[in-house]
Amino acid sequence: MHPLTVLPSGRLEQQFDDKKPRYTAAEAITEANRCIYCVDAPCIKACPTTIDIPTFIHKISTENVKGAARTILAENILGASCARVCPVEELCAGACVYNAWGREPIAIGRLQRFATEATLEKAPLSSLLPAKKPATGKKVALVGSGPASIAAAGLLALEGVQSVIFEKRAIPGGLNTLGIAPYKQSGQAALDELHQVLALGGIELRTGVEVVAGAAGAGQVSSDTLLKDFDGVFLGLGLGPDSKLGVPGEQGAGVYGAVDLIERIKAEPGLKLAGSRAFVIGGGNTALDIAHELRLLGFQDVALVYRREEKDMSGYAHELAHAREDGARLLENRVVTEVLRDAKGALTGVKLARAKDGKALAGTEETVAVDLIAVAIGQSVATGVAKAFAGVQLDAKGRVVVDPKTHRTGNPKVWSGGDCVNGGKEVVNGVQEAKLAVKDMLSALGGK
Ligand SMILES: Cc1cc2nc3c(=O)[nH]c(=O)nc-3n(C[C@H](O)[C@H](O)[C@H](O)COP(=O)(O)OP(=O)(O)OC[C@H]3O[C@@H](n4cnc5c(N)ncnc54)[C@H](O)[C@@H]3O)c2cc1C
Ligand code: SF4
Repeated sequence: MHPLTVLPSGRLEQQFDDKKPRYTAAEAITEANRCIYCVDAPCIKACPTTIDIPTFIHKISTENVKGAARTILAENILGASCARVCPVEELCAGACVYNAWGREPIAIGRLQRFATEATLEKAPLSSLLPAKKPATGKKVALVGSGPASIAAAGLLALEGVQSVIFEKRAIPGGLNTLGIAPYKQSGQAALDELHQVLALGGIELRTGVEVVAGAAGAGQVSSDTLLKDFDGVFLGLGLGPDSKLGVPGEQGAGVYGAVDLIERIKAEPGLKLAGSRAFVIGGGNTALDIAHELRLLGFQDVALVYRREEKDMSGYAHELAHAREDGARLLENRVVTEVLRDAKGALTGVKLARAKDGKALAGTEETVAVDLIAVAIGQSVATGVAKAFAGVQLDAKGRVVVDPKTHRTGNPKVWSGGDCVNGGKEVVNGVQEAKLAVKDMLSALGGK
């Protein structure tokens, strides 16, 4: 029996409402009936996993909800998560022909959510996927338990390949469990999906075990052991800790790395965030998420502090619009040059300078009182261990280098996918990269 993780109660995440709750059957059928089932459908081309969107929508319209779920899961084994977390505005729904007519695109994500959730609460995932093939006797190690590794493990299980997932944290699921904004998907929903994948059988999850280079200590396993004991290795390492601002006063209470803070909001029982004024530093999606979350948690004034202009932000425009609707504000062309603390070390505020082309302008600093700072200026890489697998290369940004068609690394026994390869994209990209890796692994291992 797999250890099933249940998150404790008393977490801040539990205070959030679902922003896009599941459609009722009547709502889903009404929305599905708007789809015109385009030939050469642009929505399919915009989906990284190429789900046959018109087909599953048609099945919903004919009340074949289980069939719709089967169509989705055939291309994306984590189709339930992706339904809730995919930035559909940038992907499938963004490509829907309705946009060109100035009309609301089909709510593909919400339809996908209806089909997968309504089906998976009644039927196990195994009953919606092709029958498992006989055991091949092959065994693969997966490093990290984020969506890339979970998707790979599930697809390998269907092909009769056993796997062991090594996860250094106590809570599995990577950022899908611990990073996604709670109003899109709860950590427990991500874990429930992960448990459905584990229930396919032949997958062992070992949490609290870190894969390391060289000699392994307690709670560790070495890269050499994986290469020796397994027929193949998949590296789904994700990204590393939050980057630091590097300004005086940053170390200490009240200043959080954004990804770290989001994880604590999602997983730490009893977390208390004091104050009413928050500064979020950064212009990407993580900055937008934490700003939105702090506002929904009751911070009165949440300012996104960005060193350039709105048009330069890497975060999605729709996410900025949603954060603004809920009261977050944007401060463009501003740079925090110092974090200010009182004699006891408590955070009191910041020195904020005007900026031009991302650089602070001398003599423009003002002092602004703040109670909490979330730093969302990027994450470091966690790929150091990858180099311990002879032949695996990293690029100048520290990403694992793979053949983009096969996701095989420079070591013929090692594949990789997800954020550690693409530098930080979406859950759906991790799933697609796992699909490519598993396809190639099977041919290398002597399977199909
Ligand atoms: C704040 C935030 C919000 C996001 N929101 C969205 C969203 O709304 N929609 C969306 O599609 N995507 C979102 N993403 C991106 C998405 O979460 C990632 O693209 C996805 O989780 C990447 O999957 P992965 O498997 O590559 O890595 P991860 O999910 O990061 O998982 C990697 C796992 O590997 C483990 N690990 C690392 N090194 C080792 C080691 N040496 N030994 C053992 N275990 C190890 C880590 O502990 C981690 O659990 C968000 C990301 C962040 C940071
Ligand atoms: S592009 Fe829009 S209307 Fe056309 S098949 Fe896809 S969802 Fe339906």
